[in-house]
Amino acid sequence: MSSDHIALAVHGGAGVMKNISEERKEMINQKVSKTLIKGYQMLENGASSMDVVEFVVSEFEDSPLFNAGKGSVYNSDEIQEMDASIMNGRDRSAGAVASVKKVKNPIKLARKVSEKTNHIMLVGDGAEEFAKSIGEIIVDQDYFYSERNLKRLRKIKANAKLTYKSIVQDRIGTVGAVALDLNGDLAAATSTGGMTNKMPGRVGDSPIIGSGTWAQNGVCAVSTTGHGEFFIKYQVAREVCVRMEYQDKTISESSEEILNELKTINALGGLIAIDKEGNIAMPFNTDGMIRGSISQKNDVNVEIY
Ligand code: ASP
Repeated sequence: MSSDHIALAVHGGAGVMKNISEERKEMINQKVSKTLIKGYQMLENGASSMDVVEFVVSEFEDSPLFNAGKGSVYNSDEIQEMDASIMNGRDRSAGAVASVKKVKNPIKLARKVSEKTNHIMLVGDGAEEFAKSIGEIIVDQDYFYSERNLKRLRKIKANAKLTYKSIVQDRIGTVGAVALDLNGDLAAATSTGGMTNKMPGRVGDSPIIGSGTWAQNGVCAVSTTGHGEFFIKYQVAREVCVRMEYQDKTISESSEEILNELKTINALGGLIAIDKEGNIAMPFNTDGMIRGSISQKNDVNVEIY
């Protein structure tokens, strides 16, 4: 199958955006726009959707602006533990890593799990041993340091009055990408440091195939961001595709419907989704979601609210 269309959408997390300074917004805007343009050029030049979503997510992991890779949030022990996953819509091959602490680019390792092992997910020490064995870049934990996130954690821990809801809402920065390439192949990727003050060892939705990431040729590719426990319970990424496949919904109908339903149970977050024709939906039920798309050269669209 080949496609006349190529398309790419990305996100940088959903949540409460009122505390982001204008300067930071501008930096985010620049980083997202530049990455979208580069990713789009790759697609134009015939790169696979898998290569492009991996590229985009690893760029965001390398930037301290997002809660993924460098700049991840801290768990309750003041340690950054990261999760990531990637899925190829062509054959449903998928890879994921969880609770890694020293792998520079968790998304690259997730792809290697998919392509070089018989497994789908590796966690913790086992994932890091595998990373070393295949020459993935391993860094000291200091590499991921974020003063901003550490202060946030300490503030949360010091303020017994903060409700879990407010902590959850104040969480942003998980990253993801979905793409359609010239072959008609869809792919999705997601990476995160999870949620501030999470228990050590807690794994959210981002590395769970069907919850944080899903790609299925002929239907859709999805990357989610939000309160992970709910996104796991409702299998949000897969659910978008299921409603399209079995209920004939459009990508917008399907993804908006799910986000509206989640809102009724206070499950907050958002998602990006792309269908086989390159139509894009980027709904959220929070104040905002960092998001961007490009479906024609020079038609870059980056928004927060
Ligand atoms: N979904 C992520 C998690 O629960 C967090 C987020 O998207 O902000 O780990």
